[in-house]
Order: sequence, then structure tokens, then C-alpha cells
Amino acid sequence: MEEVIINDKEKYLRENYPFGNIPELDSEIVCLHCNNIFKVGQYKVFKDDYDEEYICCPDTPKCNGSVIDWIPLG
Ligand SMILES: [Zn+2]
Repeated sequence: MEEVIINDKEKYLRENYPFGNIPELDSEIVCLHCNNIFKVGQYKVFKDDYDEEYICCPDTPKCNGSVIDWIPLG
């Protein structure tokens, strides 16, 4: 997987977030894979060999969690 640098993280999240309620960049979430708490805006984006892009845990590649593993806090 190759990291994709996102300049406008809010716009990217709006256009690519897989669920209905798009979280604020400064809202806190827990990643179910690494159990770390981080802010939504810290997300990273990686693409696979087919140029498919994924919103991933900020700890990627150490963590293999992605947007579907986020649990909102509060
Ligand atoms: Zn993680």
C-alpha cells in the first residue's frame, strides 16, 4: 500500500467517508485494531495496487485498522 497525501482532509473525508454521518476532523475516535485514541483529522489515506483508496488509522502501517474500525468517543 502506498500513502496518498491529502491536502484538504475535510473535503476528502466528505467525499470518501463510507457512512452517512461525516465526523468533524477534531472529534475523537478509538481505533478498534490498536486501541489508540486519535482525532479524525489524523487519518491517513493509502491506495492499493488497483489505485483503490482507503481511509486508514493514523498508525498505519503499524496498525491495519481503517475507517470502519473507528468508534466515536463521547
Ligand atoms: Zn489503529
